[in-house]
This record gives sequence, structure tokens and C-alpha cells, in this order.
Amino acid sequence: MRQVYINGAYMPETKAKISVFDRGFLFGDAVYEVTYVIDRKLVDYQGHMTRLRRSLGEIDMSLAMTDADLLAAHRELVKLNDIDEGLVYLEVTRGAADRDFIFPDASVPNTVVLFTQKKSLMDAPAATRGLNVLTVEDQRWERCDIKTVQLLYPSLAKTRGKAQGADDVWFQRDGYVTEGSSNNAYIVSAEGKIITHETNNDILHGITRKAVMDTLADLGLDFEERPFLVTEALEAAEAFSTSSSGLVTPVVSIDGKQIGDAKPGPVSKQLRQKYIEGIRRRAI
Ligand code: PMP
Repeated sequence: MRQVYINGAYMPETKAKISVFDRGFLFGDAVYEVTYVIDRKLVDYQGHMTRLRRSLGEIDMSLAMTDADLLAAHRELVKLNDIDEGLVYLEVTRGAADRDFIFPDASVPNTVVLFTQKKSLMDAPAATRGLNVLTVEDQRWERCDIKTVQLLYPSLAKTRGKAQGADDVWFQRDGYVTEGSSNNAYIVSAEGKIITHETNNDILHGITRKAVMDTLADLGLDFEERPFLVTEALEAAEAFSTSSSGLVTPVVSIDGKQIGDAKPGPVSKQLRQKYIEGIRRRAI
């Protein structure tokens, strides 16, 4: 049985319990991170911890655990669950207190939970097949840069997208694509320029995005960080998305319109390969 981490202890998932008064449950008052594990090692762990600290700071939440404590918990779970490839999920909530909109005193301990998922992401069928994406209105709050567990809208949108035959949804505000339901979104123009939304409050500042942007610079590829229109995306030579769980995944249709020749394009394929080479070297 899977072992999970909860507030300093490791136990089988069926034994782990959280209070009904936990603010993560009552208010979505929690932040999280998802780290990819390859070759039993953590990918861009420091980037995830830096973003976690930023998310915590933006919602005035303290956390007693150090990065070293958190690293030890990640590693222990990878070991206990024998994760060769997969994900480690980490969630930090403001803890349990009588239901009140006002945050409880900072002395209330956080709830900290970690669990693993064994998954082959490297060989995901979507990488060779490519994704069919639908664009939908971005109805999330205006602090998408904070990685909170308030994922109801992305979950609703993706479920509705799936019912219409799509693999994923890309959000748009005023005709401009912000990002995917749980990934950053990119297009490649006919001239070969890679375009993705800049890092502001409208998107999550993806850890994979950062690595891919560094790869683009290393390869000397032309790129621009700006919002792109849905209409621009429909005319793009290629499109793809990035995330810790999808790595670099090609997009082959948007709103039913085929992108390129409806097969993963050369830029997406090259970036996926370079990204995987890079993380295999860097993982700790
Ligand atoms: N945007 C959103 C909305 C996400 O949920 C995610 C994944 N959590 C990403 C982008 C990609 O971020 P990362 O590369 O750090 O996984």
C-alpha cells in the first residue's frame, strides 16, 4: 500500500486523516507543488521550493518546516513507494481552526501532506499523438501566479472540454491565451518564433516553463514572451504546452482546427527531447 506523509509521520494512505476543520478543506486555504521524479530523483526541486515560499508569502501563510525538512520528506516517500518515475505532491494548508473567514493565529500549525504517484510521463501517449485543445473563457481569479489548491474552475473546464472530445483546455482572456488548465501554453509562428505569455499575475510561473525558456536561449531559438491571440494560435505552425506532469507536450488541434499537419511539430519534439536530457542531468 502507498505510504504518505502527514505532519511529520509516514503512514499507509488509509491511515492518514485530516480534521474536518482544516482550512484547506473549508476555504481552499492551501498551496501546493508537484515535483517530477525521474530515475528516482527530484526534478528542479529548488525551483519548486522557491515557488512554494513565494506562494506562502503572497497569502501571508507561515511554514515551520525548512527546505531541508521538505527535501528529506520528498526523498523518503520516493524511497518508501519505490518511485522510479512519477510525481511527488506536496500541500501546505493553514491548519485546522474553528470556521472563520479571518485567518487563525499564526501559532496554529500547518497541515503538511505529501504523497506520490507512480506514472510513466516520459512515454505518455500524448507526446507522440499530440493534444486536441479547446479554448475557454478564463474565469479564474486574478492571482493565477499563486499556486493555491483552488482548482475548481480548471477542473470544471477540463471536464467539460473532455465531454466535448478535447484532451485539454486553454484559457483565454479578451481573446488572448493565458495558459492551459494545468500547464503553460506556447505557439510557434510561421516564421519559427516561439511565443508564450509573460510571467505576470495571469499565469502560473511554471518551473518547466523556466527550463524550456533557458533551453530556447541555449539553442539560439527566437522567442517572445507576450500574450498571443486565439486567432494567432489557429494560424500557428505548431503549438505545445509544458508542465511538470506533461513535460513538453505537442498540441495538434485548437478549437477543432488542425495545427500544422496535425502531428507533433519539429520544434515541440526537439524541445521535449532537450528538456528530458536536461532534467536527467539536473535531477537530485
Ligand atoms: N499553469 C498552471 C495553471 C498549472 O497548474 C501548472 C502546473 N501545476 C503549470 C502552469 C505548469 O507549472 P510547472 O511547470 O511548474 O508544473
